[in-house]
Amino acid sequence: MEKVSKAYAMAHAKCPRCRKGNMFANSMYGFHTQKMNKSCPYCGFVFEQEPGYFYVSMFASYALNVAEMVAAVIAIYTFTHNTSSPWLYIFLILGVSVILSPFNFRYSRVMLLYWLTPRGVKYHPEIKPLPTYHQNEGQLK
Ligand SMILES: [Zn+2]
Repeated sequence: MEKVSKAYAMAHAKCPRCRKGNMFANSMYGFHTQKMNKSCPYCGFVFEQEPGYFYVSMFASYALNVAEMVAAVIAIYTFTHNTSSPWLYIFLILGVSVILSPFNFRYSRVMLLYWLTPRGVKYHPEIKPLPTYHQNEGQLK
């Protein structure tokens, strides 16, 4: 049974328990809303562990958004040295925020499951796939 590193599993939004099944059923960017699997297609782990569980990911999303906005301000100032007009900052920060919102949505949930769950989700590399699991089920296209 091959082990999957935590960094790889987080980057690819894999289930925290088996690190093989995808948390999301479709890709991050596209002309559709992101669809999260209710449970892991590989091991059956239920992602929403209690009602309202993913409300907490809003705080992680907020932290990601603030970090991105600060990085955007630093980048804008570094390239333009603009200190006279706030409009350049306002429009670019709003643009960065909108463009990265699917990223924040996805990785705030990943961070919640991997880092912010009080009891934690233990990694079980020995878990066997469900009989319903197919290799390409829920794979990113
Ligand atoms: Zn799983």
